[in-house]
Amino acid sequence: MKRIGILTSGGDAPGMNAAIRAVVRKALYEGMEVYGVNYGFAGLVAGDIRKLTRRDVGDMIQRGGTFLYSARYPQFATEEGQLKGIEQLKRFGIEGLVVIGGDGSYRGAYALTKHGFPCVGIPGTIDNDIPGTDYTIGFDTSINTVLDALDRIRDTATSHVRTFVIEVMGRDAGDIALWTGVASGAEQIIIPEKGFDITEVADNIREGRERGKKHSIIVLAEGVMDGNEFAQKLDAIDNFHVRVSVLGHVQRGGSPSARDRVLASRFGAKAVDVLKDGQGGVCLGLRNEEIVVSGIIDTLDNMTHTPNMELLKLNEEISN
Ligand code: ATP
Repeated sequence: MKRIGILTSGGDAPGMNAAIRAVVRKALYEGMEVYGVNYGFAGLVAGDIRKLTRRDVGDMIQRGGTFLYSARYPQFATEEGQLKGIEQLKRFGIEGLVVIGGDGSYRGAYALTKHGFPCVGIPGTIDNDIPGTDYTIGFDTSINTVLDALDRIRDTATSHVRTFVIEVMGRDAGDIALWTGVASGAEQIIIPEKGFDITEVADNIREGRERGKKHSIIVLAEGVMDGNEFAQKLDAIDNFHVRVSVLGHVQRGGSPSARDRVLASRFGAKAVDVLKDGQGGVCLGLRNEEIVVSGIIDTLDNMTHTPNMELLKLNEEISN
């Protein structure tokens, strides 16, 4: 394989640029050329494609977001869209494609492989919710950003003896809430993978206050419920005067952490090796600190992402 393409798709995540850089540099090292596709599968179908040089990825490793841009393009789930995409890849003489994104993006990569065009998926999302890997690109940076915010809120919560509900990202997965809850010493962590009883949450706050606790921090994953709604439910039980902070998109941006840069660099280089070997329809993962390669369909259909539920138990034991 002499010429490969790369695109980023789905939600952006810090470290995507580091992965693109690694793909370009490793491919050049192997004597291959790399073409960048702007705006994910939308740009692929539109032919928004350009050659990437060494210099195009210079000064990129430290930047958040993705310089290739990302887009949602549901039309790529149709065969018509996929065949148009392949036409464009052929027009540019591209023989294999690296797709950085989440499980939706993996489906797009698999569809192309099925049409005879080898693709490899790299897990990139702050939510850490992609099967087949212990960690995704962007998760580490995101939890450190959230942690910084939680530490600041704790200062205020303690000074005013307040209860705070902090809504963090995670529609289906509680990883961000779990990790940042433990790391910040939050009193309670509420995640979609486990039900909760609002009266128990309220009892916990009261017990803490009776023991002389100056603050109560509840980290809530957005997939459970809106933070304001959660606070209203608590205030309806007792006059807690709960304050709410919805962290929102600050969790997505920023310069990637060292860990995300290294993970992205390892994934990027491995993706080039995989395509060079002529493999397609596969995705990369990190398991027990080793990079692993597995089939996309096997990963999506037979593996599930489960957060480390031991963290929840640990937090109950040490933060209450
Ligand atoms: P995130 O988890 O960050 O949202 P994602 O990759 O799961 O990332 P999606 O919006 O689900 O995000 O998918 C990204 C893009 O992948 C879609 O906009 C679409 O272009 C393509 N895609 C999604 N599902 C399929 C499918 N079944 N077949 C082909 N392409 C798909």
